Amino acid sequence: MISLHYDVVVLGGGIAGLWTLDRLLRRGYDAVLVEARALGGGQTLASQGIIHGGLKYALGLGGTARALRGMPERWRRCLAGQGEVDLRGARLAAESHCLWFPPGPAARLAALAAGRGRLAPVADGERPAPLAHPDCGGTLLRLAEPVVDVESVVRVLAGFWPDRLLHASAEQLHLERDGSGACRLVIAAAEGALRLAAGALVLCAGAGNGPLLAAAGARWPKPQLRPLHQVMVRHRAGSFHGHVVGIDGNPRLTVTSHPLPDGSLVWYLGGALAEAGVGRTPEAQIAAARAELAALMPWLSLGEARFATVRVERAEPRRPGLARPADAFACWVQGPSNVIAAWPTKLALAPRLAERVEALLGERNVRPSGRRSPRPPLPAPPLSTPPWREAFGHAA
Ligand code: FAD
Repeated sequence: MISLHYDVVVLGGGIAGLWTLDRLLRRGYDAVLVEARALGGGQTLASQGIIHGGLKYALGLGGTARALRGMPERWRRCLAGQGEVDLRGARLAAESHCLWFPPGPAARLAALAAGRGRLAPVADGERPAPLAHPDCGGTLLRLAEPVVDVESVVRVLAGFWPDRLLHASAEQLHLERDGSGACRLVIAAAEGALRLAAGALVLCAGAGNGPLLAAAGARWPKPQLRPLHQVMVRHRAGSFHGHVVGIDGNPRLTVTSHPLPDGSLVWYLGGALAEAGVGRTPEAQIAAARAELAALMPWLSLGEARFATVRVERAEPRRPGLARPADAFACWVQGPSNVIAAWPTKLALAPRLAERVEALLGERNVRPSGRRSPRPPLPAPPLSTPPWREAFGHAA
């Protein structure tokens, strides 16, 4: 048995784990991250990459809106190399995105939204190609919130600390309690068992946090999963990033556009379509997406388009009625003495999550040792692939 001791061991290499690891290593913590599958392969690469500033939610839920305020600026500073993480190597998919209020009952919300200040009408000559058709009515407002190419963000974050990233499958990983009530990680490796002890084990495993909390014997917090059935449409109708606003002020459809290596484009469709489609088969969900696009944008010719779907679960701390949490969440768990559970609840909130984890460590006196303990003999985790490349590959 090889035993190693770190200040912090992070479990899970999505945006939460990678951003947190980076912050802690820069602060002088002796930290490693263990990923069970592939970096970004949970919700992170399946997300739409919108760096919300809360305005969308201001039409609905106030708490989320407050937490998100400032996130676009914080990410923009990072993308310009002037923030807490140097993301200059990452790609911005769009500087801003749109809120489209189609003609009909949702149109009355446009005036309300426009009054919020951070929205500007999109001039006719600047409309995204799919909404530039003369038959496209309603109101189109620009929301100054960027959309990031999440794969490039994950690649940049992973590239900072290659020697601190470890791969071991969920079957190889076990949590055990020591005599003092602390948890440590035991990994069944080819060379024999490895034991990784730490001042803190930080669970950033998304949907994997539930099983990890159970294995650690934690009484609180409890997880929740909110499923989505996203649709992917490969076509050549042009790029569009935005929300099509529904009657209740929530997105009837959220559209982001992702290029494939052959020059075609994938529209990734979320919003109410993805929530309502959870109980549908992929075929029924594709039929619903076709009907929704035909109703909203009948001028688009999608005869040649190819459709696919992907199911993803949003993993979060449990809230009454499965409500959406208002902010990034991290806490010391009840039960084992050294385990932190962490869910950003939004990609955009990863910086707030990392900050919160660092504050929690300070509260229990887990301080940066300034050491760099040796890397255990484990391989590096692979980088995952976004669902649209999984679905459509590189073929023309
Ligand atoms: P994940 O990305 O799920 O990462 C968890 C990682 O832990 C995975 O790599 C997994 O393999 C690993 N793991 C699991 N079990 C174990 C284990 N036992 N040991 C070690 N590793 C383990 N947010 C936004 O701000 N903007 C958006 O536009 C947006 N769009 C979204 C669209 C969809 C369809 C979904 C599902 C979410 C979206 N979100 C968005 C939310 C955002 O994606 C998530 O909040 C965020 O990615 C969560 O990151 P995470 O690192 O906590 O989890």
